[in-house]
Amino acid sequence: MPAPVDSAVTGIHHVTAISGDARENLSFYTGLLGLRLVKRTVNQDVPDTYHLFYADGEGRPGTDLTFFPWPNLPPARPGIGLTMEAGFSVGEGSLDWWAERLAAAGLEVTSEARFGENALVFRDPHGLGLSLTETDDPLGTAPWDRSTVPAEHQLAGFHAVRLWERDLPRTARFLTEGLGFEETGEDGGWHRFEVGAGGPGRRVELRELPQERRGMWGTGAVHHVAFRVDDDDHQARTRERVAAAGQPPTEVIDRFWFRSIYFREPGGALFEVATDGPGFAVDEDARALGERLILPPWLEPRRAEIEAGLAPLGDATVADG
Ligand code: ZN
Repeated sequence: MPAPVDSAVTGIHHVTAISGDARENLSFYTGLLGLRLVKRTVNQDVPDTYHLFYADGEGRPGTDLTFFPWPNLPPARPGIGLTMEAGFSVGEGSLDWWAERLAAAGLEVTSEARFGENALVFRDPHGLGLSLTETDDPLGTAPWDRSTVPAEHQLAGFHAVRLWERDLPRTARFLTEGLGFEETGEDGGWHRFEVGAGGPGRRVELRELPQERRGMWGTGAVHHVAFRVDDDDHQARTRERVAAAGQPPTEVIDRFWFRSIYFREPGGALFEVATDGPGFAVDEDARALGERLILPPWLEPRRAEIEAGLAPLGDATVADG
């Protein structure tokens, strides 16, 4: 891989999806998958909805899958304009362990060979497409010492996200011109694009399905994929690059744990570019992340009203999966 140029993103920052019931979501991701709940907060635009962030032991960018639980939405309709799968990495020798664990939990799991690596493909309880790929990449993630999963088998950040496209070359051009990705291969109809020098979350994979209908958000859908930049200056350069590639970005929005811009890729899927910092430990003790409801300062005056509108989650630090 060439050295990252100074306006290219450095990888996936987080993936945000829509779930059904919040407690079922919490139990699946902390209990069965052994991720750490690193932030228990609300959707900043819709504060009667939780926003739950699951990540590695330190909440590092590149490991973070977040959810808006909206149990009253209909199930997602798969299709164009949606990110169809969020894939995680696991270390060498972990895939058999996971196959047994997922089967014991009653999940329907398929094995696939992808780009010379082995993957398990399955869905979460609300339909979100997930995969675990066994990889010898340098993973650079931090284990969670209170996880239900032994350190050597814990999920090690994102491996890839997968999207369907009607017009693959258009999105391919945007990934390379707008975000700095490079096309690195093709396998089984999927085109792989990579960015960054290593570590988790540096791949996007596209499949062209010219006749496919448009997808629709619902439970089990990816809401958006966020890509990483180092800091505000880097984000400003990426923002210009995205605009120059023809996809108008929003102004910078302060998400408190990071700063974000949003835009759509040419196929319609929502993307974000988020700064690595300040990070999840900016407003709570790193040891106690996720244990209580955290609100950004501008929502803190409404805490009583917001808490009254949220169903209790229970104890998130003791997983029950
Ligand atoms: Zn986001």
